[in-house]
Amino acid sequence: MGFRATVLTLYPEMFPGHLGVSLAGRALERGDATVEAVNIRDHATGKHRNVDDTPAGGGAGMVLRPDVLARAIDAVSPENDPRPRLLMSPRGRPLTQARVRELASGPGAVIVCGRFEGVDQRVIEARNLEEISIGDYVLSGGEPAALILLDAVIRVLPGVMGNALSGTHESFEAGLLEHPHYTRPQVFEDREIPAVLTSGNHKAVEDWRQEEALKLTRARRPDLLQTTETRPDQPEK
Ligand code: SAH
Repeated sequence: MGFRATVLTLYPEMFPGHLGVSLAGRALERGDATVEAVNIRDHATGKHRNVDDTPAGGGAGMVLRPDVLARAIDAVSPENDPRPRLLMSPRGRPLTQARVRELASGPGAVIVCGRFEGVDQRVIEARNLEEISIGDYVLSGGEPAALILLDAVIRVLPGVMGNALSGTHESFEAGLLEHPHYTRPQVFEDREIPAVLTSGNHKAVEDWRQEEALKLTRARRPDLLQTTETRPDQPEK
């Protein structure tokens, strides 16, 4: 049936956005994934259809109301919906490739996009929202974060990447950053492609790539190695 995403947002016109083109666009066309955007405001009541209000305790900005958001969630995701409910949030657990793979192997996701100062804490608890962050910086809304999460999920769905192998060496998949890439021309502004890559020796190429990946990870992301080096499934070298 494919991966089914329902996005709750105040700006449904931001979807499918870039997911409508290229790799993800073709996946949506084929029905490998669906992305449905639902306007939270459609679930507001009263003359002014207010979705937000001032923060209890005072301070700047506005907060998304829990009753409106809960109604929106309940309308798209009944209690027996097997899909996880996510809230894009800078306070969330950082998104990882492992979580991306997990989500991709499931039935889909309900994704809430915050705006303003964020959402009322009570609806996070009452609807069991899993807070996910895409990095240590603050966006003006959860929509770009949801698009990024969905981009990462859709590209690892079965059949989406043309060459199935092209995912396996990539950054984070083995707990390392990926080795550098080269292509023609053989010489570019006096720089040559490393000789080993054109040697035809597959074992030497594989060793070189592994070595470069390790070097790069040590230099740029030593934090990744702390977990990698204890992983039992790493090839011995
Ligand atoms: N006052 C909040 C920030 C609100 S930003 C705080 O300091 O934590 C408004 C909305 O943008 C958030 O509700 C969230 O949905 C989204 N957002 C902002 N930064 C994000 C990030 N790094 N990852 C995921 N979502 C983010």
